[in-house]
Amino acid sequence: MTTTPTPASGIAGDAASTPLVSMTDVNKHFGELHVLQDINLHVTKGEVVVVIGPSGSGKSTLCRTINRLETIDSGTITLDGKPLPAEGKELAALRSDVGMVFQAFNLFAHKSILDNVMLGPVKVRKLKKKDARDLAMGLLERVGVANQAEKMPAQLSGGQQQRVAIARALAMRPKVMLFDEPTSALDPEMINEVLDVMVSLAHDGMTMIVVTHEMGFARKAADRVVFMSDGQIVEEETPEAFFTTPKSDRAKDFLGKIL
Ligand code: ADP
Ligand code: MG
Repeated sequence: MTTTPTPASGIAGDAASTPLVSMTDVNKHFGELHVLQDINLHVTKGEVVVVIGPSGSGKSTLCRTINRLETIDSGTITLDGKPLPAEGKELAALRSDVGMVFQAFNLFAHKSILDNVMLGPVKVRKLKKKDARDLAMGLLERVGVANQAEKMPAQLSGGQQQRVAIARALAMRPKVMLFDEPTSALDPEMINEVLDVMVSLAHDGMTMIVVTHEMGFARKAADRVVFMSDGQIVEEETPEAFFTTPKSDRAKDFLGKIL
């Protein structure tokens, strides 16, 4: 959150006002479907933005354009002021800078928890094994699963696996973390353990874009709620304003269904 920068954590970005992720007039089509329509979204360092909206409104696609899992048809996206690279080493570096946690726990099934977290630092960041192990253990500690390090993913609960997925993304020292409905595949009793880790990251100053319908998280951690509908950003508000007095009919209608 921008209000509580704690640079000592080592996770925070620096100046709070620099735009870290900028999407300007972004358009994208899937065939006939205009899935992103003139999207303008600027996220400053340390800011936590929650993206909310009906299924099919383009939330996942928006996230995927930021680490270039999807290309765009027009407009610009910059990270730290630089346009997203299209290929090569620069694209690999971008993928390290933009950590992503998806709905389904996408851990490597045949590698231990520790190896899952060490792999990126060793292969991509070229850390020595010992340093990668220390880093990974520190992050597993941080998300509360260090005691599971030698296990295989299938031996962990969904909530534990999702916390490992967060540790794995953090191991790349990302500038921004994208979360795409990180708790929607979890059993209800495991949702909070994942949200708690995300809230703590937010408090430590991580820049985050989070697609979620978890209002508790939005109220605790978000600086801003962005409401998407039919490929458009319809409303941008503080969580308090959005949840209590949504302006547009589309937002009112949506909130009426989820609340
Ligand atoms: P959300 O995450 O808000 O549910 P998505 O970004 O996943 O929405 O999808 C937005 C729309 O784009 C949906 O209608 C979906 O069916 C469509 N869509 C998503 N990915 C593709 C794709 N690769 N090809 C064609 N259509 C897609
Ligand atoms: Mg989605």
